[in-house]
Amino acid sequence: MAFTTATALIDRQALVDNFNRVKAFAPKAKVLAVLKANGYGHGLERIAQALPQADAFGVARLDEALALRAAGVIKPIVLLEGFFAEQDLPVLAVNNLQTIIHNRQQLTAITEAELEKPLKVWLKIDTGMHRLGISPEEFDDFYQTLSASDNVEADIVLMSHLGCADEPENPATNTQLALFEQLTSAYDNEKSLANSAGCYAWPQTRYDWIRPGLILYGVSPMAAPEQSAQSLGIKPVMTLQSSLIAVRPLKAGEAVGYGGAWSSPEDTIIGVIAIGYGDGYPRHAGNGTPVLVNGRRVPLVGRVSMDMITVDLGKNSGDQVGDLAILWGQGLPVEEVALYATTIPYELLCNITRRVQIEVI
Ligand SMILES: *Cc1c(COP(=O)(O)O)cnc(C)c1O
Repeated sequence: MAFTTATALIDRQALVDNFNRVKAFAPKAKVLAVLKANGYGHGLERIAQALPQADAFGVARLDEALALRAAGVIKPIVLLEGFFAEQDLPVLAVNNLQTIIHNRQQLTAITEAELEKPLKVWLKIDTGMHRLGISPEEFDDFYQTLSASDNVEADIVLMSHLGCADEPENPATNTQLALFEQLTSAYDNEKSLANSAGCYAWPQTRYDWIRPGLILYGVSPMAAPEQSAQSLGIKPVMTLQSSLIAVRPLKAGEAVGYGGAWSSPEDTIIGVIAIGYGDGYPRHAGNGTPVLVNGRRVPLVGRVSMDMITVDLGKNSGDQVGDLAILWGQGLPVEEVALYATTIPYELLCNITRRVQIEVI
């Protein structure tokens, strides 16, 4: 016997196809591929190496950028939250890393640092999301101060981030766009506004640099289920799978798993699949969450355990121990599983844990 344990298949061709699809939305824009949180759970270095077409990579933390450099990645890398300490600045210079500036502490640190060479800077303006970014009133002051600094390269990229682009009817995106335009139209600097949802649904936000994350991994960034990955023309890069390690008959009324939280209304057959929250499968996935067993949708029943889940195979099941189960990916969008787990696909993907085996296909 040899059963598949929890495994994430990573489809490199799907990644490249998705990249090309995104590029087709915005043929003139350069692409900053977002790889934070371990490449949305797909592997930081692995995804960088599989995307030689990208113009730059975006990460959230210095450690992620240094891991990419250590892996031999020489492309531009942008720290999307900027640097966290002034001591980081020489490290950025040595490793040729670009930084966002979004607050006054960073502005002071970069202008007062002693650096061997100037850094490339992206100036982040808050246009309405009210998370990171300088206020519109601060823009001129920040821009002038950065422009005057020997520590800053001349071609500052002007950027902002969209809070509601996943909802095509939400007026917030046009409000953000109008403010960004108003502040930056007089500058011929490069500009950047679009996340995945912007790339797809908001053509005017594409500017010079698009910043796709989720969409590259073949998952729809849009809120409405009808705007599925398939309808966007993208394919899941990750397929999470494991196998049945037990198949057992269950009598009507018998309870399954911790807390006896679920019992069957009729005689049935229960399958036990070797994957659980210790692998990153969401513990909040409720009864009825779909799982593909031998290509057939069956409902999850009972509580998710650390290492296992239980599914109702139905009383006519012919499934065998060792048969394959797909938790999400090919044939079962992670978007759908996320709805059952009352979360978003982003969280499911980046919660994949270290013990999940990776198989690049
Ligand atoms: C994470 C992030 C993105 C990518 O977001 P997606 O919704 O995954 O496309 C783009 N820009 C910034 C600044 C980010 O932090």
